[in-house]
Amino acid sequence: MSPIPPAATPFDLPPGSVALVGAGPGDPGLLTLNALRALEAAEVVLYDRLVGPGVLALANPQARLVEVGKSAGNHSMPQEQIHALMLEHARAGRRVVRLKGGDPFVFGRGGEEIEYLRAHGIAYRVVPGVTAALACAAYAGIPLTHRDHSQSLRLLTAHSRDGVDALDWEALAQERQTLAIYMGVGALEHLRERLLAAGRDPSTPFALVENGSRPEQRVVTGTLDDLADTARAHAVASPALLILGEVAALATQLHWFGAAPLGPLPAGTALPAEQLLARAA
Ligand code: SAH
Repeated sequence: MSPIPPAATPFDLPPGSVALVGAGPGDPGLLTLNALRALEAAEVVLYDRLVGPGVLALANPQARLVEVGKSAGNHSMPQEQIHALMLEHARAGRRVVRLKGGDPFVFGRGGEEIEYLRAHGIAYRVVPGVTAALACAAYAGIPLTHRDHSQSLRLLTAHSRDGVDALDWEALAQERQTLAIYMGVGALEHLRERLLAAGRDPSTPFALVENGSRPEQRVVTGTLDDLADTARAHAVASPALLILGEVAALATQLHWFGAAPLGPLPAGTALPAEQLLARAA
């Protein structure tokens, strides 16, 4: 008997179709059952760099695994080539899984990919995944909304076609809301300046969650005023999600996974040079 309970509707990946599948943030336990079924049915898996090895290990052992990884500032395969690969494999009659970190429709270019498939007459399905904001918050012990602190949540990216300047900073600087900022590691000083200029309190707490849900997860906390300095002092690197808002302070009390959150280092100090180098390697 299968250890996996039957789905309400069986997951069906016909030959010549593409399933756009969310792989979640890294911990394979955060895959949905439909994502697992799609991986088991796949003949080709086109996966992003952010997808963890534990997730890939669950794919059909006969499937061809192709990395089409891209990260901000490091586009190893242009989007057009990813489109062409999906089309080539689907037209050859293969069952294709396009596997993306987190959720395919949250800063994942999933929309562009299914527009392309539709335009070329290829059947597709979409399997949602646990997006980084939800996973990082849960694994850092940060409730994204809280009756006492925050009534709304915004997901935004600091990396877009028009850059951060296209965002409505007045609205983003309002209190009692939580910002979950994707791909922000390279733009922290800019984010800080914009939010302060738009009136956000410099003492607003933040948490940077690096490698959320993975064994190497780190959480770095501080206040908006020291955001860029603290991140630099701890050499926070991508993938990391920035959570900004009153709720971020709760990580200090409510954390449960991995190491306790790291705070600002005393002025003028930083991690020892050899640690910084080891992290950059
Ligand atoms: N579709 C993905 C987001 C892709 S954009 C999703 O829904 O999660 C890539 C950005 O997501 C990274 O720069 C980082 O900000 C965030 N991210 C993805 N996985 C992460 C993880 N395990 N820990 C922290 N941030 C993560």
